[in-house]
Amino acid sequence: MTEESTPLHPDTLAVRSGRAGSDPALAPVIWASSTFVSDSVDEAQAAATSIGSDRFYSRYGNPTVSDFEHAVADLEGAEAARAFGSGMGAVTAVMLGLCSQGDHIVAARQIYAGTQLVLQAVCPRFGIDVTFVDGTEPGALAGAVRPGKTMLVWVETPANPRLDLVDLDALGAIAGPMTVVDSTFATPLGQRPLAHGVDLVVHSATKAMAGHNDATLGVVAASAELIGWLTGFAVLQGATASPYDAANGIRGLRTLPVRFARQSASALELARWLEKDGRVTEVRHPGLESHPQHELALRQMQHLGGLVCFDLPGGIDAGRRFVEAVELARLASSLGGPETLVTHPASTTHVNLLPDELAAVGIGAGTIRLSVGLEHPDDLRADLGRALTAAGAVPRP
Ligand code: PLP
Repeated sequence: MTEESTPLHPDTLAVRSGRAGSDPALAPVIWASSTFVSDSVDEAQAAATSIGSDRFYSRYGNPTVSDFEHAVADLEGAEAARAFGSGMGAVTAVMLGLCSQGDHIVAARQIYAGTQLVLQAVCPRFGIDVTFVDGTEPGALAGAVRPGKTMLVWVETPANPRLDLVDLDALGAIAGPMTVVDSTFATPLGQRPLAHGVDLVVHSATKAMAGHNDATLGVVAASAELIGWLTGFAVLQGATASPYDAANGIRGLRTLPVRFARQSASALELARWLEKDGRVTEVRHPGLESHPQHELALRQMQHLGGLVCFDLPGGIDAGRRFVEAVELARLASSLGGPETLVTHPASTTHVNLLPDELAAVGIGAGTIRLSVGLEHPDDLRADLGRALTAAGAVPRP
């Protein structure tokens, strides 16, 4: 009698996946070679013309990068993945690699400002029309689809920075265009969009996936056919992932389950404390009962993430004072790493947005984004409490 083989848990996949190019080394081997030797013209031609070849020229593919791609594909439950030199490399490859002049994209308004800029300023220059809708409003994304014209429906969930969610089942049910989720804030451990019928998952692996603030890396996971299309574009686009960053990406994935679980738990603990403390308003974390989409979060996410967002009543001055007053947390524009980071979106990540655009996505002058790291939550609470005092925040009556 043979034992039934059951699918491996994500925690196990994170440890075991993506090892072919490094075998038999236990840790990722860095193939720091830009090119590879062929024994014959036929072999070189076969490598040059096969999609995803990782032993021809490293802009086409590289064994260390392939290992990272295979690990991400396994974690996302995808047939294939393609890595890029940054999250924005992945974002632009999907938009410009899959859309042509005359096509239309529907995008949720609640997205990272860099992605928004590509949609607003770059896509129109290539004749790609874009419609922004409120991604939290049921039916808004599907309602904006122009049959025969809309090529992509693009969302980010949870969204940067206010952690709004998009219903993945509703998104996956949209027929016609390809649906895309930027799942950076969730990581493959927090949610698996492809299981909801979504076509492509995009990540800035710079964040929690690589997880140590030492790699700039992006990745897209999808069907083998879509990744084949993207690879054809990516080889010419040249936003190639470095083998050094890919090795750091693999190293990050190995511990992602424990890091992400701990960060999710600490973030929720701090969000609950902030809400109770009463010195800030609009505390956001998908695990808070007060989050308008809390039920949806519990339905579609396995871990709710390490990000917290809140508003300081004192506006821009209070926001600046707060981020300059923290000592344990650091003022830096990234997320998902071991160190707790604070950002002031209105002056940094979203500085290119006009006031009405900021208001439309709920970012105020005093909005703070907190990426909770791996420090002890009691130490973080003490640090944030001191910084709130320094920013002049007082409990609401
Ligand atoms: N997507 C999201 C949700 C992000 O937050 C970011 C960066 O902050 C990106 C994409 C872009 O990623 P990268 O900085 O790796 O290019």
